[in-house]
Amino acid sequence: MIGFFANMEKFYISTAIAYVNAPPHIGHALEFTQADAIARYFRKMGRDVFFLTGTDEHGMKIQQTAREKGIAPIELADENAGKIRALCDKLQMSYDHFIRTSEEYHKKGVQKIWEKIDEAGKFYEKEYEGLYCIGCEAFVLEKDLVDGLCPNHQKPPEKLKEKNYFFKLSDYSDAIREKIKSGELKILPESKKKEFLSFMEDGLSDVSFSRPKKTLEWGVLVPGDPDQVMYVWCDALSNYITGVGYGGNEENLKYWPADVHLIGKDIMRFHCGIWIGMLMAAGLELPKAIYIHGFITSEGKKMSKSLGNVVDPMEVLEKWGVDALRYYLLREIPTADDGDFSRERFEIIYREELANTIGNLVRRVAAMVQKYFDGKVPEGNSEVGGQCDEECEKFRNGMESFNIKVAIEAALRLAQNANAYVEQNKPWELAKNHPERLSVVMGNLVFICRELAEMLEPIIPETSAKIKKSIGGDQVQVGEPLFPSIE
Ligand SMILES: [Zn+2]
Repeated sequence: MIGFFANMEKFYISTAIAYVNAPPHIGHALEFTQADAIARYFRKMGRDVFFLTGTDEHGMKIQQTAREKGIAPIELADENAGKIRALCDKLQMSYDHFIRTSEEYHKKGVQKIWEKIDEAGKFYEKEYEGLYCIGCEAFVLEKDLVDGLCPNHQKPPEKLKEKNYFFKLSDYSDAIREKIKSGELKILPESKKKEFLSFMEDGLSDVSFSRPKKTLEWGVLVPGDPDQVMYVWCDALSNYITGVGYGGNEENLKYWPADVHLIGKDIMRFHCGIWIGMLMAAGLELPKAIYIHGFITSEGKKMSKSLGNVVDPMEVLEKWGVDALRYYLLREIPTADDGDFSRERFEIIYREELANTIGNLVRRVAAMVQKYFDGKVPEGNSEVGGQCDEECEKFRNGMESFNIKVAIEAALRLAQNANAYVEQNKPWELAKNHPERLSVVMGNLVFICRELAEMLEPIIPETSAKIKKSIGGDQVQVGEPLFPSIE
């Protein structure tokens, strides 16, 4: 094994939990697919993997939207959590557990964490007065308003005065900085580590952790104070540990601490600051790494309803199939950076890489083994072994450093080289008067296709299974085209 996760038996990876105020979008599909490819890869490498995903279901926004629709908050949560889970399943996410924060075991675990932080003396009460934007679910500052309106929601904030419990996050600024600088807590990629350290240069501020029940009903009650409900932080962030059983059935708690939380850049500060401070206060082990992925735009622009460029992942899945979408997201959007969803680019990648380079190679090789050897795979030699090893190593390096795009490029190169090998050796000519050479060349091509299937398994599992079915055994079968042309 190579890379920075070497020598660890278990491997626990989580995605952020999706907020159920709306159905899922392509950004969810990106994060799900990245996490799934990594989980599948480590599972394949023999690790004991635990992969957690789920939904964040409480909060004012859900409460309000449900009220407007005349339904109970749980009904709205059920509806959208169902859609998010359906997307996960369509994308063939291999999660071990799907957590919903409205579930009882989660609420119990959250209350236990709250109590631990409270026992450590890290909560205090404070009257808070300020301007509150319901859209943001947060207090906003006068200076950030544009013409008296919240710039994100174009709505005037409300004046609110209320009692909150505050978490003394400021007490942990130095400790958090130390863990990050020493690398004990990895913030990846490196640019994000720098960004976070510079953000917290002057220390972290205390954070409001609860709201009065009369404002926020839809949430977890604060232990020992029935008039207060937990605000998003303690409730949502704790899912990473309640999801493996903290405070309840502890069978899976052996997976804690998480090896990596995969999250979007918009929630970096909460994860690297608040969540780490909470764990320290509660006396719990810290995650080993937080990996911050980029965002996805649509046709070069930020997705928005008004621009009409919102990409519905379900629509893409229906039309092109699961592996086309998985491949595009993982191949086209570097894990550490932003990337774009472009219909034109999608079609090019589908046609050139999936259908022509990978699909045709496998079908062509299977058909030639069928034709020249009655489907019985001949013996190859070692002439392509070096090249295979080289690309496999690049693939592994890519996956283990989460550069999935780099890993896929290695697999793609292997397929391209195999196609070139066919052109150089021209099996159809060898078949005329060089039967021995033909045997070796076809044996080598089958070997490459099998290696390719292994590399593609965490990326496009369905296609990998089809390749193995076609060419994995002693007797090849010419299957259907892997990526048929689609109008
Ligand atoms: Zn707002």
